[in-house]
Amino acid sequence: MNTIGLSLTTQSPVLLSHGPPAHHLTETMEAVPGNTVRGMLAYRYMEQGGSAEDEVFHRLFLSGETRFGFARINGSQSLPLSARSCKYDPGFRRDGGHGVIDLLLSHEGERRCTERICQQSIDYFEGSWNPAEAKAERVAKRLVTRTAIDPVLGSSASGQLYTQEVIEEGQVFHAIIEVPQDIAGEMEALISTPFGAAIGTGKSRGQGWVEVQRTEPPIYSLRLSMRERFEEFSRSWGSSVLAVTLLSDAIFRDDYLRDCTAPTPRHLQPLGIDPEVWHSNPIRAFAASRMVFGFDGVPFCLPRMPRLAVVAGSAFLFQARSPSLPAIPDGSGQGWVGDKNGEGYGHVLLWHPFHLEPEKEEKHE
Ligand SMILES: [Zn+2]
Repeated sequence: MNTIGLSLTTQSPVLLSHGPPAHHLTETMEAVPGNTVRGMLAYRYMEQGGSAEDEVFHRLFLSGETRFGFARINGSQSLPLSARSCKYDPGFRRDGGHGVIDLLLSHEGERRCTERICQQSIDYFEGSWNPAEAKAERVAKRLVTRTAIDPVLGSSASGQLYTQEVIEEGQVFHAIIEVPQDIAGEMEALISTPFGAAIGTGKSRGQGWVEVQRTEPPIYSLRLSMRERFEEFSRSWGSSVLAVTLLSDAIFRDDYLRDCTAPTPRHLQPLGIDPEVWHSNPIRAFAASRMVFGFDGVPFCLPRMPRLAVVAGSAFLFQARSPSLPAIPDGSGQGWVGDKNGEGYGHVLLWHPFHLEPEKEEKHE
């Protein structure tokens, strides 16, 4: 697999809705789904004279061999849902906050702000962060209000005012694409020169324009191997534990093909995890889920079956069945699990260093 980096810079307001419009307020997602990145590049392929009948088109966009990751603001990650910060001065120390703590491995009862002069209560700390620099990343958004158009009169429809949340202009979202080596050149050719594309809803009125450009993929060096991180986690917890953190939304099915709200060690086999070693239910879970809706364009023109996704940042802790030390394979512990990997679902990191040292620096004493 070749990993190719891609950036999308918003040139106009962008609305990426994540459900059927059912309210007067439509909210936007804060990341560009892999499926949207895929559609945008498939369109580009056709624009450049390719055909959907091509063998290359099939392998790039349809067969699932190529994985299109979610594009995230400045190449950030979702903060693990186990993160907490001061209720009154939240944030990373680098951002001027009172620091971030993590509860996945916490044995203490009530945790309080670690800033010595503060010691106040802690609260949820959600959003995106840059793991290389331990600082928060935010998507700038605003609300736009519009009126519906009366189809008969062609003027504003009476009483039909609605509001849309949009991503503001001038922000950069980074995605990675993993392509089989023998067709990587075809993908690179598509993005060798910057081009404009439209994503999301409201394209007919100029919303959704992005400039697409090839970039270096954001790579955060993991200081330790998966086995070394396992040892650190287990030392910190007091016995062997497996920590699973979702870097993107993920879709897991159980043996009866029902969508589930947590992975089991069986889902982690692609990363070399032996499901016999670990209990199948997590002892700790900091998780959330959402419904994924979608619409297939030509030729299907049908809504897709809604699926349940466990959201990015969800974190789970599993305990070993036996006290003897399990064998942990070599590797980075980063990879793809569950369904729809081709659309960017199921990117996970085992034993994420965040849970041991959220800020990668000495605590201020
Ligand atoms: Zn504080």
